[in-house]
Amino acid sequence: VRDSAVDALTRLVRDIPDFPEPGIVFKDITPLLADAAGFGAVVRALAATGRDDRGEVVVDKVVGMEARGFILAAPVALALGVGFAPVRKAGKLPHDTHQVDYALEYGEAVLELHRDAVAAGDRVLLVDDVLATGGTAGATCELVRRCGAEPAGFAVLMELGFLGGRSALGDVPVSSLLTV
Ligand code: AMP
Repeated sequence: VRDSAVDALTRLVRDIPDFPEPGIVFKDITPLLADAAGFGAVVRALAATGRDDRGEVVVDKVVGMEARGFILAAPVALALGVGFAPVRKAGKLPHDTHQVDYALEYGEAVLELHRDAVAAGDRVLLVDDVLATGGTAGATCELVRRCGAEPAGFAVLMELGFLGGRSALGDVPVSSLLTV
């Protein structure tokens, strides 16, 4: 994404102070989703992380994290011509799942992925809207590995760099379009 485009996209992400609780600045992507040009640019840029230098698609599946990750990951999957699989909070997926506990700011939670959502050996691109502490992305990598597949990359619209969430991804390459 070019510098001028970064500025334009950054302006389409709205800061909501003290949501959902005091002290959190929530990054609201709904103005960006409402802007067809901005939404399209973001989907194309995220999808580019699933291609090599010659433009060949190098991933087999795209996984998106509940809930805003779904909105970005599904069109990225279509743009790449590969399938999509949802990672959801505990108790939402109807078929057999793998489960991973992960730390929240206060307490912990469980994420799930259908056991048959990705195949052994698949290269999987993870897509979400915001990288904060990295707990969600780290747990999603673990779910993909439990299926015998490989997290090939994590593509995110906005990285909150001051939280250091990248470290939760280990060796998995992280591509963030916007960093604050
Ligand atoms: P984390 O697991 O801490 O990296 O948090 C990432 C997940 O929580 C993502 O799925 C985001 O959608 C959401 N999230 C965390 N912090 C924010 C924030 N400040 N604004 C918007 N979404 C956030």
